[in-house]
Amino acid sequence: MSREQLAVQQARRAFHTGRSKPLDFRVQQLKNLQRFITERQKDITDALKKDLCKSENGTQLYEIFGVEGEIKLALSKLPEWTAPRPVAKTLLTITDEAYIHPEPLGVVLIIGAWNYPISVTLQPLVGAIAAGNAAVIKPSEVSSHTAKVMELLSLYLDTEMYQVVIGGVPETQELLKERFDHIFYTGSSTVGKLVMEAAARHLTPVTLELGGKSPCYIDKHCDLRIACRRITWGKYCNCGQTCIAPDYILCEPCIQDKVVEEISKCIKEFYTDDPKTCTDYGRIINRRHFTRITALLEGSTAAIGGEHDESHCYIAPTVLKDVDPKSKVMQEEIFGPVLPIVPVNGLNEAIQFINEREKPLALYVFSSSKKVINKMISETSSGALLANDCLVHFTISDLPFGGVGNSGMGRYHGKHTFDQLSHLRSCLIKKLHMEPVNQIRYPPHTKEKLRWARMLLLKQVNLRRWRQLVQVSMLAALAAFVVKRFLR
Ligand code: NAD
Repeated sequence: MSREQLAVQQARRAFHTGRSKPLDFRVQQLKNLQRFITERQKDITDALKKDLCKSENGTQLYEIFGVEGEIKLALSKLPEWTAPRPVAKTLLTITDEAYIHPEPLGVVLIIGAWNYPISVTLQPLVGAIAAGNAAVIKPSEVSSHTAKVMELLSLYLDTEMYQVVIGGVPETQELLKERFDHIFYTGSSTVGKLVMEAAARHLTPVTLELGGKSPCYIDKHCDLRIACRRITWGKYCNCGQTCIAPDYILCEPCIQDKVVEEISKCIKEFYTDDPKTCTDYGRIINRRHFTRITALLEGSTAAIGGEHDESHCYIAPTVLKDVDPKSKVMQEEIFGPVLPIVPVNGLNEAIQFINEREKPLALYVFSSSKKVINKMISETSSGALLANDCLVHFTISDLPFGGVGNSGMGRYHGKHTFDQLSHLRSCLIKKLHMEPVNQIRYPPHTKEKLRWARMLLLKQVNLRRWRQLVQVSMLAALAAFVVKRFLR
């Protein structure tokens, strides 16, 4: 038996003991996860420094706070999330109990990506634990130092219930042969398709958190200074290796030079005159991605930056202007610190440009006009739309985070992760009395019974508005009528 098979088998065996179901267990495991983060803070920051040249404070801000926030939220909301959720009833089911009961799915496979390796791997894990599942965690091998730190999870969590599998593509492929109850994958759309194909063999549901080219439209009627500050931050943090980074800018030619000028000022302010020596400016994850990104620059002239150094996987914050939509840089997700500006003639052309391409993970619009923002919302589609800022929709747990079409399927964060990794089971609890009421559904089916059935079935009852007394008296009257009418 392979290591991967063993991990899945052990997790399943642990799940079948039923010990992950009680709330106390989930609460304890979530607290243990928090303890891992607190006690291993230095290991985590050191690993991320080695993997992506992230600064200590940057790691706190972009990786740790998000996971801690999710744990805190789950701990405070767990009783509410796991409680039965009553639903509206019809007159026919008025005295019955009808509710949704969230139950754990079983064993969840979490496959993480390398760009925010702690956040994109541990945030789904918070939901998996909260929902009472077992989990097999496969951190990205590309961020190898961080993956090694995640192995230490076994010192904190129930070691059988939560298995960390370290490895690359072959190990992931071995895992994907196994049967899971849900697969939560973060990474590229290309691999996402392979994951979904493997999942289909077992009819396993998937969440695919993918990427793509997230457009950023700047309306000429907006404060360009502020817009460019926010765009510069959103684009160049983690060296552009952010799934929801603005991939390219669309704007009218008349503001293009001003946009370049403002971004240039912000780059200097955020990362100094020499970003290479600035602790807040990261590095490209590896040579393969360095070569991929620098190849995208071919044929374009940099309006800002463009310098690169392969030996340090360094690429300067770069802006390309007057970019041809057919150019290489516009054919794939950049996932690096290169920001092309594609000139368009106003909002309608920008919308057409966006709609001619795959649905993005995020869509950014900068404008002081509500009309422009609303038009963008109503005439385009994307995983999320954010007006007048970048990235920060990620921080609101109540907003479902996920893609649409090529940018992914499923959603997470806060209660959305809990629901995504739960089976929302329908429960209807009836009693064995009141049988006469059922006469209207039993054969022989007459026109009169049908009329009554229509009235009773199609009438929705909002329980909050009805007092118990009214319900019972109505039912009694109904029962009396049915008895009189059909059982004479
Ligand atoms: P990656 O190379 O780390 O791959 C992700 C995972 O897939 C890894 O665990 C890896 O082992 C596995 N994998 C890779 N190739 C595989 C194969 N052939 N078969 C089976 N498993 C395989 O990460 P990546 O794909 O380079 O990640 C970057 C992409 O992820 C970008 O497109 C980015 O936009 C996207 N992303 C999305 C989100 C999100 O939340 N939507 C977050 C981060 C990254």
